[in-house]
Amino acid sequence: MAVFYDTHAHLDYPDYTDDLPQVIQRAEQAGIRKIITIGTDLESSARAVKLAEIYPSVFAAVGWHPSRAPEAPEDFRSQLREWARHPKVVAIGETGLDYHHLPSEKPEFTKSDDEQYQLKQAAVFRQQLEVAAEVGLNCVIHQRDALEPILNQMEPFLGRVRGVFHCFANDAAAMQRIVARNSLVSFTGIVTFKNAQNLRQTLAVTPLDQFMLETDCPYLAPVPYRGKRCEPAYVKEIAELAAQVKGYSMDELSRATCATAEKIFPRLCG
Ligand SMILES: [Zn+2]
Repeated sequence: MAVFYDTHAHLDYPDYTDDLPQVIQRAEQAGIRKIITIGTDLESSARAVKLAEIYPSVFAAVGWHPSRAPEAPEDFRSQLREWARHPKVVAIGETGLDYHHLPSEKPEFTKSDDEQYQLKQAAVFRQQLEVAAEVGLNCVIHQRDALEPILNQMEPFLGRVRGVFHCFANDAAAMQRIVARNSLVSFTGIVTFKNAQNLRQTLAVTPLDQFMLETDCPYLAPVPYRGKRCEPAYVKEIAELAAQVKGYSMDELSRATCATAEKIFPRLCG
């Protein structure tokens, strides 16, 4: 059986409170050998580390999500540094920038609130890039309507920190700019959606050694589970689609995507 990794899951979310052991067991049965559970703030990151300690197949990323930036403490670098010493913490994130929803969408906020929000996101992102560079880990990047500012902010870290642009949903030109900077993209179940023809075209031209697979569960369940709670076992459906789009066998795709993940997150190898 071809084996795969789920490089982006949120196993600490309340969606799995009742049946996490079964969710992880189903992943193992589907050949999903390793799962990276991603922290979105300090509490979530602490839970991610705990899950990595409990389950042999689970690894953790620790960080603060850009959408939650307003609540972030002024400086949380020392906490990240401490977690980064843990052998099962494989990355910093999820971090990045999200300009898709801005405060001024609501009538009580103005453009100057947008500016404050974006400045706070940038500060939270910068701290995570700094820690990643210091400790020698790479970053899991959340990007929405903010590719340019993210690439600009990563520029001083080129050669020290690589990023995985997770839940990649942009065009081939964006993918090329990312891989030209020695970062990567990863694809979710969106590639299986009927209306995602453009994204399948991006996947088709993405070099075999420059992408990974992920669920971003509990969100974005692939077809035929679309709309239901997603779980790591469904990487299999995403892999089947990707193998078909790229014209490789499941074994070839397994070897390539697992090797890519182990290269950008070396602690996955134990
Ligand atoms: Zn996520």
